[in-house]
Amino acid sequence: MRCLVTSARPYDQQSLSAANDGHHELVFVDTVLNADTAFIAQGYPALCPFVDDTLDAKTLETIARLGTKLLVLRSTGFNHVDIPVAEKQGITVMRVRDYSPYAVAEYAVGLMLTLNRHLHKAYNRVRDGNFLLDGLLGFDMHGKTVGIVGTGKIGAALARILHGMGCHLLGYDTVPNPTCQELGVAYVSLETLLAKSQIVSLHIPLFPETRHLMNAERLALMSEGAMLINTSRGPLIDTAALIAALKSRHLGALGLDVYEEEANLYFKNHCDDIICDDSFERLLTFPNVVITGHQAFFTREAMKTITDTTIQNLDDYSVGRDSPNLVSANRTAQ
Ligand code: NAD
Repeated sequence: MRCLVTSARPYDQQSLSAANDGHHELVFVDTVLNADTAFIAQGYPALCPFVDDTLDAKTLETIARLGTKLLVLRSTGFNHVDIPVAEKQGITVMRVRDYSPYAVAEYAVGLMLTLNRHLHKAYNRVRDGNFLLDGLLGFDMHGKTVGIVGTGKIGAALARILHGMGCHLLGYDTVPNPTCQELGVAYVSLETLLAKSQIVSLHIPLFPETRHLMNAERLALMSEGAMLINTSRGPLIDTAALIAALKSRHLGALGLDVYEEEANLYFKNHCDDIICDDSFERLLTFPNVVITGHQAFFTREAMKTITDTTIQNLDDYSVGRDSPNLVSANRTAQ
């Protein structure tokens, strides 16, 4: 298939070209796909977008008019695509349903340990020749209660690691995961999880009903001084409420790999720009906040699976083979 890979970075080009069996004509552009740039789809029956591309109704209508029939997403999350509109426009959407859940789960643990043991401060101190330990006091993870919000593939991988560290685990999900139950995860209401956990880690997808799941009210339910980790999607947290919770010192630590307005910032180099997102800049001023630019997925193993699956999705579509990676507006079919 002739496929335009949008928001393509050098590593995408390298890994997708290596995975391509030669059957598909892949064209790489670093353009971010949205309603303003949708005209680039002209001549491409398939597009391969990433999470910073926006496939809203307007974009989908344009690309459908230009002849695009297939979207092969280089991601698990599909919140950046208006799926009902894609269906209406006759565009098939496929994703990478399963890639290393370990990449994201291990990264969430990395954020927890960084914040708990103040590694971000220690790194700079030692480089400055300052070997004082004041302000670096942490806590044992062993025996602490961690609340996992969303116990699907990534949540379960996280549960396994934290179980090994001797944590007590609470889970919140609409569908309890037997693997987590075997590990001793106790399923409770979101309110109970927030109140009882010293660390809360978010692993549910972004849907209209989960947008601002962590609002002012829910942040207030968290126990005093608790840590919040978000490696799922930025809009799960209301940023204004988050800043207020940090300023009041109610929230003790925050680790973000995703940010509500990341589309304007992430995956680009702004080092010579003035960043005008005041909320983002405010978050950076807190000593108990660590922010990274949506890199939790970024391991060799995950990239290989993402690219292999993307090529497999193109193969399956071209020969009309059924695939577990099809995304449908009917969520129970996912
Ligand atoms: P998954 O589908 O395996 O698990 C999601 C879980 O959330 C499921 O168990 C589901 O029942 C639960 N859930 C859905 N809606 C819910 C609701 N309203 N209330 C309670 N529970 C609900 O997905 P996964 O592979 O574990 O990925 C989780 C999310 O992680 C993805 O949707 C994506 O947004 C994010 N992600 C981030 C990165 C990154 O690099 N930062 C990489 C991959 C995935």
